[in-house]
Amino acid sequence: MRIGFGYDSHRLVEGRPLVLGGVAIPHNRGLSGHSDADALLHAIADAVIGAIGDGDIGRHFPDTDAAYKNISSLDLLRHIKNIADKKGYKIHNVDTTIVLEKPKLAGYVQDMALNIAKVLDVPITCINVKAKTNEGMGFVGRLEGAACFAVCTVEEK
Ligand code: MG
Repeated sequence: MRIGFGYDSHRLVEGRPLVLGGVAIPHNRGLSGHSDADALLHAIADAVIGAIGDGDIGRHFPDTDAAYKNISSLDLLRHIKNIADKKGYKIHNVDTTIVLEKPKLAGYVQDMALNIAKVLDVPITCINVKAKTNEGMGFVGRLEGAACFAVCTVEEK
């Protein structure tokens, strides 16, 4: 059994969709970035990469590569899952926390978990998505962005 940790943050800006866990969430601002800026899936991807000891997401998907512009991060996560498969690791479970001041995400976390479970090919009971605010503190509290944390365990096949 091995464990990996991932963190990601993206800036909130006008004129972008807000996508977290592969779910489009109605809001007046969205996360800016080269891909769809899905900070939750990026944190999970880094947790999986960490668990299998294979660097970081930036090494696998350089943001200078036009191929990844506006790409769905579900595709990025699928790619990382395939690398884990090839290296002989089976993903066991993933636990995550999204830190975002607004909007409230409680109504969306189950759909996010379903998307993640599908891509990682694990039972839904092995995926946990938590959402919280930052109590008005720091960059999250100032509505400047979102931060996401994830841990992932894998086992050798
Ligand atoms: Mg990112």
